[in-house]
Amino acid sequence: MKRAVILGGGESGVGAAVLAKVQHYDTFLSDSGTLKEQFRSQLQKWEIPFEEGGHTPEKVLDADLVIKSPGIPETAPLVVRLREQGTPVISEIEFAGYYDTAKKICITGSNGKTTTTSLIYYLLQNAGLNVGLGGNIGKSYAMQVATEKHDIYVLELSSFQLDGMYDFKADIAVLMNITPDHLDRYDHCFQNYINAKFRITRNMKPEDCFIFCSDDEVTIGELNKIVVQAKKLPFTQNGTVEEGAWLENDTLRVRYDGDEFDILVQDLALEGRHNVYNSMAAAITGKIMKVTNETIRRSLTTFEGVEHRMEKVMTVGGVLYVNDSKATNVNSTWYALESVQTPIVLILGGTDKGNDYAPIADLVREKVKAIVCLGVDNKKIKDFFGGMVPVFETRSAEECVNQCADLAVSGDTVLLSPCCASFDLFKNYEDRGRQFKEAVRRL
Ligand code: ADP
Repeated sequence: MKRAVILGGGESGVGAAVLAKVQHYDTFLSDSGTLKEQFRSQLQKWEIPFEEGGHTPEKVLDADLVIKSPGIPETAPLVVRLREQGTPVISEIEFAGYYDTAKKICITGSNGKTTTTSLIYYLLQNAGLNVGLGGNIGKSYAMQVATEKHDIYVLELSSFQLDGMYDFKADIAVLMNITPDHLDRYDHCFQNYINAKFRITRNMKPEDCFIFCSDDEVTIGELNKIVVQAKKLPFTQNGTVEEGAWLENDTLRVRYDGDEFDILVQDLALEGRHNVYNSMAAAITGKIMKVTNETIRRSLTTFEGVEHRMEKVMTVGGVLYVNDSKATNVNSTWYALESVQTPIVLILGGTDKGNDYAPIADLVREKVKAIVCLGVDNKKIKDFFGGMVPVFETRSAEECVNQCADLAVSGDTVLLSPCCASFDLFKNYEDRGRQFKEAVRRL
């Protein structure tokens, strides 16, 4: 019996452990921290031995195969030793792919992954297909391969998951965009991060499809250097393309395999320029999957969006409150500001990952009437924006929302799109978004 060791006992690790067990591996899970109760009880239910609070080297190093959580870096001492002794170390997605013959639609990018993945899943469900949703979102892919049966999977893939993928092949790969992110995990080398993203095209064949943004210079630069076997389907908001998606005045058009689809941009459920890209990627995928134009149209016009992504919370006294707590980098805040057409009271701040605020300076000057900081250390924000607009400091969601309510007048938008991670005051971006929404409802 081969021994599979799973490092990390979160959603993906426990899913991988269950799949290993079902596939008759001698399975062991090891986590350096404390497991969540829900995962501990799942392991017990499946009678999978595990340890927490530290790794016992002997129990890990005798593995034939190691499935590593994407959160554990390559530089972790145990991972280094496993690599040295030649033990394969792979991701949960790679492992599940070994036992899955379903069609795989995979989405990556620096921004827009969750939105596009959810939209494609919604579209395929509306088409009546038997489709599973996984990867970086919801229930793990491995758990579904172990316990369910789907004909198609829509998988959101982060660069860390892609790093642990070797033989996996996507039938349709979608690359939304590439902007610098997570460089601390890539030796501060942007090219390493680009390479990770492009792993989504590995093993693809001419009959597979690669959907990408041809307005993204980094993507185009890379495509000029490497060979991608799959059929290339670009989407763009500048000019037209032979096959793929483009804008013609106010209409989003798609052409694939001699067939066409179009929809007015104003009819799209998701607003803003970034969401035109996300809708384009979904519409092309729909055409490839032979979904009818009627169903594509219905899906793109009725999709309700994902929590914490430009989520309209409510209107109080004529002021619209929008929760974009997921905007943890400057690029996503740029798109958020771009999509709002009213004067804005902007909430910024949190844990700064080395932000350069210059890209949003023009939009702030043009649209933002005041900035309210929600963070512990706001010096950088005050220094950068202080000369442009009034900047206020707050330390809790409640204080912040009250301050915004004082500043905004009917017709304005209060936008939480903070450019920063949330770990100084909140558990995570979801916690920040929910606390913001609760404070708005209490107004
Ligand atoms: P991800 O899963 O890649 O983090 P999300 O779909 O969760 O992406 O969106 C995160 C944030 O990025 C949103 O708050 C939104 O403002 C912004 N965003 C969404 N789609 C795009 C896009 N195509 N390009 C740039 N920014 C985007």
